[in-house]
Amino acid sequence: MTKTIQRIALNAMSPGTERFVKAHRYGKPGARPKAYLQASLHADEIPGMLAAHHLIGLLDAAEAKGEVKGEIVVVPVANPVGAGQVVNTTFVGRYDFRSGINFNRRWPDLSIGLADRVKGKLGKDVAANIAIVRQALGQAIDEMQAVNETAMLKRELMRLAYDSDIVLDLHCDDIALMHVYTTNVFWPRAEDLAADLDAKVVMLCNDSGAQSFDESFFIPWFRLQQELGPDVPVPAPILTSTVEFRGQADVYDEIASVDAANLFRFLQRRGLIAGDPGPVPKLKGKVTDLDACENLRAPRAGIVAYKKREGDVVKAGDVIAEIVDPMADDPKQARTPVRCQTGGPILSIRAMKSVGAGDSIAMIIGDEKLPHPDGLLLSD
Ligand SMILES: [Zn+2]
Repeated sequence: MTKTIQRIALNAMSPGTERFVKAHRYGKPGARPKAYLQASLHADEIPGMLAAHHLIGLLDAAEAKGEVKGEIVVVPVANPVGAGQVVNTTFVGRYDFRSGINFNRRWPDLSIGLADRVKGKLGKDVAANIAIVRQALGQAIDEMQAVNETAMLKRELMRLAYDSDIVLDLHCDDIALMHVYTTNVFWPRAEDLAADLDAKVVMLCNDSGAQSFDESFFIPWFRLQQELGPDVPVPAPILTSTVEFRGQADVYDEIASVDAANLFRFLQRRGLIAGDPGPVPKLKGKVTDLDACENLRAPRAGIVAYKKREGDVVKAGDVIAEIVDPMADDPKQARTPVRCQTGGPILSIRAMKSVGAGDSIAMIIGDEKLPHPDGLLLSD
């Protein structure tokens, strides 16, 4: 079976323009396992896009040798809408200009109405149940009303991904260590993914409240299983993860080619590509629940002057940064220290050193659950 390239046109938002999604498809349609990988849903997060470029090269070579055993779909530019959002020279790829909504939040909730769709059809046979639920999810996607470009983009990406065994959404942070998000349910089954990618941090959460892209494929199964109880088995057959390829400036062929080789090896390990991936490397990163991560915020506006950097291991009470008021009458009175409440490695800091009150300045990976009164575990 030769590779195909699928071009999916989106509804234009202005006369004389057209944007489209391009999917590189490998293996026989319907072959198992199926993996779906997309890059740069936050359109200004480029490391995953370059890694996908390198991965496509590796997959082309594997396909030519007949080594692709499963089905693999790669979308190297998941967000052509955001990719065009530039104000003067500033690239703004995180939020949709038209709606103001973060491109990786509020994805359609496929759990709504799912139990009704499958009611009376499920039994004790796990494989049969999975097939029935997958069909119902596909039907829900087919029925989605999607008129504007971004809604259509979401529907079409969901259509490419929903029936996969593996969904990897390739992002990056501001300035950060390599890290991955996945669910508690998949841990430690997904340890090979984190180890192959040499993740420095793994964050686990079954439902962040954000309805991110990857979660939108896991949560319907999770909620359905909770609703049906153990007598009707519908284990999520889909491993979902958001992979954060470090920081926005970490875009180099030397790094991206290694990341692509790591993804390729993981796909080999999961039986999508022939060949021996070798033993699973030892995971050196810290594994923690997402609700044990402290999102440290600036108490006032000013310049953030860091005292610690990403990768530093800190103790509760350490000063992570000082917020400098550049308009202070007396520079000796200009600094406000910001201390962390939790200890552990610093996952990320910010690139833009000008902050407003309440802006996030660092993520610290702790061990104990922290209160999240609003139920939202991911910042916007
Ligand atoms: Zn992102």
